[in-house]
Formats: sequence, C-alpha cells, structure tokens
Amino acid sequence: MAATTREERIASHERNLKWQQPPLRIDMSICINCDTCLRHCPPQFGAIFNHGIDVIIVPELCSGCGKCLPPVCPVDCILSDPDWTPAPDGWWKYPGGPDDPYP
Ligand code: SF4
Ligand code: SF4
Repeated sequence: MAATTREERIASHERNLKWQQPPLRIDMSICINCDTCLRHCPPQFGAIFNHGIDVIIVPELCSGCGKCLPPVCPVDCILSDPDWTPAPDGWWKYPGGPDDPYP
C-alpha cells in the first residue's frame, strides 16, 4: 500500500514513502502543552494529539511540513527526528478514533 492518504496511513501504520522530510517530534521536557501545534497541523496529515498530559506527534502521520514550528510553537520544542522509531501501539487509538481532532 502506498499510504498516500491519511486513512491508508492510519490503517497500515506506514508513512508515505514519497515524503522527503523526516517526521518531527516534541521535546516533552520543554513543551508547555498549549495545543497550538495541534490546531496548525494540516488535516490531511493530522499527526498531533493529546496523550494524557503530553502532546505527541505520530511519526507515521507527520510529513515534516513544518507548519507546527515557531512561531506556532511558542517555545521551539519541536525537533526533526531523522532516527524516528514507530509510534507505540497506544498512540494509534487517537487517529481515526472518536476523539480524532482532524475530521
Ligand atoms: S511537521 Fe507538519 S505534519 Fe508534522 S506534525 Fe508538524 S504540522 Fe503536522
Ligand atoms: S505548540 Fe509547542 S509548546 Fe505548544 S503543545 Fe505544541 S509542542 Fe507543546
């Protein structure tokens, strides 16, 4: 599967192989949980979620587009993650789930 749509990426847990940029990750030790990045992630990617008290980026859904970077993130705690590892199973309940913030 090419995982060209968000639906396909959610189903397959795969990134779109055509994406040139690595995914981003949030340094949770700096993040102030303001949720601004979540509201700025384009819905066709829809990669940022609340996870308990943390804010997370599901790397398989993140294109690396950079729309969440400063000035959107006020504390500059979103970093490129070229050595990313797959999202833990527990993160996959959010995309496509009842509380998915990206309709
Ligand atoms: S880089 Fe783009 S796709 Fe990835 S989390 Fe930020 S806004 Fe969303
Ligand atoms: S915008 Fe930055 S500080 Fe705010 S929730 Fe996102 S990563 Fe955390």
